[in-house]
Amino acid sequence: MLRIGLTGGIGSGKSSAAAMFARRGVPVIDADEIAKQLVAPGQPAYERIIQRFGKEFVDADGFIDRGRLRRHVFDDPASRRELEAILHPRVRQQIQRQLRALRAPYCVIVIPLIFEANQQDLVDRILVIDAAEDTQVQRVAARSSLADDEIRKIIAAQIGRNVRLRQAHDVITNEGELEQLEERVDAFHTRYLDLAREQREQ
Ligand code: ADP
Repeated sequence: MLRIGLTGGIGSGKSSAAAMFARRGVPVIDADEIAKQLVAPGQPAYERIIQRFGKEFVDADGFIDRGRLRRHVFDDPASRRELEAILHPRVRQQIQRQLRALRAPYCVIVIPLIFEANQQDLVDRILVIDAAEDTQVQRVAARSSLADDEIRKIIAAQIGRNVRLRQAHDVITNEGELEQLEERVDAFHTRYLDLAREQREQ
């Protein structure tokens, strides 16, 4: 099965594009969703995080406060690496498990930090959803309570736009209307079905 890694900066439109692939019947695996499930109460990563970071990262309902944890490790590379060491191998394993259960010509795996976390080997091709920084800030500000400067700090901590684009096999520029994004997704859907057929015939 052909594996397409879908990535892009915060607010670029990854989730929107992934939903469009899903509506075309393409299986979508989402690394963020997996990470969220892995830190649910009772999961091994939940205990490890509390052991390492303390009970103050558990909210009133008993869930890990992921936003708080993210902010805590943001400016502290050593603790960020420790959190990644707990999460990344488990996310990888879970992606591989879900992949083994799939039967489809191709699938999409949404991995926001594919380059930062060096996970390129999980996929055959990388599709980058690209938008200008000001567009990213506007979109994220509209959907969250983050201030503009906080959003710009998150963008600055992610891999640079040009570095991401240089490593992409495919790019969708998402600067227009959602209908245009849909058209681009449609075109890539056709292309990926063709590529998957070629791969099968090899
Ligand atoms: P990501 O998953 O990359 O963070 P999303 O797909 O969640 O980005 O998009 C961020 C926000 O911007 C969402 O509220 C989404 O509905 C909106 N959005 C995405 N693409 C467009 C577009 N082309 N036009 C208008 N709004 C968009």
